[in-house]
Amino acid sequence: MKITIVYDNEVKQPGLEADWGFSCLIEAQDAPKILFDTGSSGAILLHNMKELKIDPGVIGIVVISHPHWDHTGGLQDFMKANKDVELYLPQSFMAEIPGRKITKVKQPVKIGKNIFSTGELEGIEQSLAINTDKGLMVVVGCSHPGVGSILDAASKFGKVYGIVGGLHGFSDFDRLNPLSLICPCHCTQYKSEIKHLFPDRCLDCGAGLVIELGDA
Ligand SMILES: [Zn+2]
Ligand SMILES: [Zn+2]
Repeated sequence: MKITIVYDNEVKQPGLEADWGFSCLIEAQDAPKILFDTGSSGAILLHNMKELKIDPGVIGIVVISHPHWDHTGGLQDFMKANKDVELYLPQSFMAEIPGRKITKVKQPVKIGKNIFSTGELEGIEQSLAINTDKGLMVVVGCSHPGVGSILDAASKFGKVYGIVGGLHGFSDFDRLNPLSLICPCHCTQYKSEIKHLFPDRCLDCGAGLVIELGDA
């Protein structure tokens, strides 16, 4: 199971562009490749994908965490590059997208083998829980419902091993104690505090970062 950060406020690889927003590619065995969020700008999203040698055409599903511009901004341009992609949108995402297979997510749902959505929490945002050989890897956009609520919702699918994505203003750091891998990205306000508290378990996020775990 492999997660590649495609779009982030920071970069980890020369040639990639940093910009406010978030997107990552999720590749797991026997499941469609998933693009989780699309960043703010289609041009930057497609540029970074090209640099990372990710062909937009191989992506089977786009999951949008929540309808904020820094997660949906690249969607239109991405869909021009992939005419068949299926969409999993939170119920609160109001956009009309003709000619596409769309699943509006309200309740928890299985998206592919070992890949689950927490369902839309607090009427705004869904997160993913991916089952790996170490436990669940939770993928979040901005964590507007709160990291605690997201971890609780994800725990219904198993034991949480790690979290990656934007943690916003989250400061209830004890909630991260049981986790083995913490990768605070994008809008995380307390990145330096989290890295200071959990130095051995933190990964520096940025476009180009790859997280690899064994398949479940
Ligand atoms: Zn947001
Ligand atoms: Zn955001």
